[in-house]
Amino acid sequence: MSIKALPSLSETVKTHGLGANKKLGQHFLLDMNLTDKIARLAEPLEGHNVAEIGPGPGGLTRALLLRGAEKVIAIEMDERFIPALAEIGDMSDGRLEIAQGDALKYDIAANLSAPRKIVANLPYNVGTKMLINWVTASPIFWTQLVLMFQLEVAQRVVAQPGDAHYGRLAVLCQSVAYCRMAFEVPARAFTPPPRVDSAVVVLDPMETPFEDLKTLGRLTQEAFGQRRKMLRRSLRKLAEQSELDLDEWLGSCGINPKARPETLPVSAFQDMARAINANR
Ligand code: SAM
Repeated sequence: MSIKALPSLSETVKTHGLGANKKLGQHFLLDMNLTDKIARLAEPLEGHNVAEIGPGPGGLTRALLLRGAEKVIAIEMDERFIPALAEIGDMSDGRLEIAQGDALKYDIAANLSAPRKIVANLPYNVGTKMLINWVTASPIFWTQLVLMFQLEVAQRVVAQPGDAHYGRLAVLCQSVAYCRMAFEVPARAFTPPPRVDSAVVVLDPMETPFEDLKTLGRLTQEAFGQRRKMLRRSLRKLAEQSELDLDEWLGSCGINPKARPETLPVSAFQDMARAINANR
């Protein structure tokens, strides 16, 4: 028996009584063409270990295994899905491990050997938090992220200076990885449909990622926390705490203190963060 012989995802949901729990951001992809399209973005999967967050009824899990992933750890908070996932495990030659619990507390690097990819249709309520944890990890422990978010979050990941969605998430993600929008998925493709459309983004780590995400995180929080303000206003407190003269600091990075954060390239934030460190 193989994974292909399993009942359809709709039947699995029905026989196991897997109604969606909105509190856990449950919107399922029951179309295997779509889950296969996402899994294909993560190819090659042979020789790669995959952490899948929130497998739910297991559509993407099936696709990842069918596309040849060496091993998949599926981390699911809702215990109702474990029997359906175990049925996939029974057909997967020991390649599927199921971990029940909160993925925010799960140490992927400790539990899955390299090379690791993270592939997921993420729960909306905690997806951004997970992404920030992965891009600010030191060292970067993954070789690729293939992630489905609500469209607006995906746009924030790939946004460029001047775009309405450009902000902290773009600066952090684009400081460690090449980020691209793969494709959009309309809300009607999910069961039940969410209120907004979704999109899949792919992050491939840079050979030399920016080294100090902690300082960059703090700096972007201050700068974009008050995105309508000029930098000389929003960064005053951080300059004081870092014992830097604000105008000198920004001037040494070639940045006009009257600039607003959404106009600056990622490299400008990196220069400002480096200058804070150089002063320590
Ligand atoms: N991957 C499935 C699919 O595409 O059909 C389900 C995706 S659904 C958007 C999100 C899944 O994440 C749900 O199964 C939900 O139970 C699970 N989930 C929510 N919060 C979680 C957490 N903190 N840790 C692990 N899983 C979580």
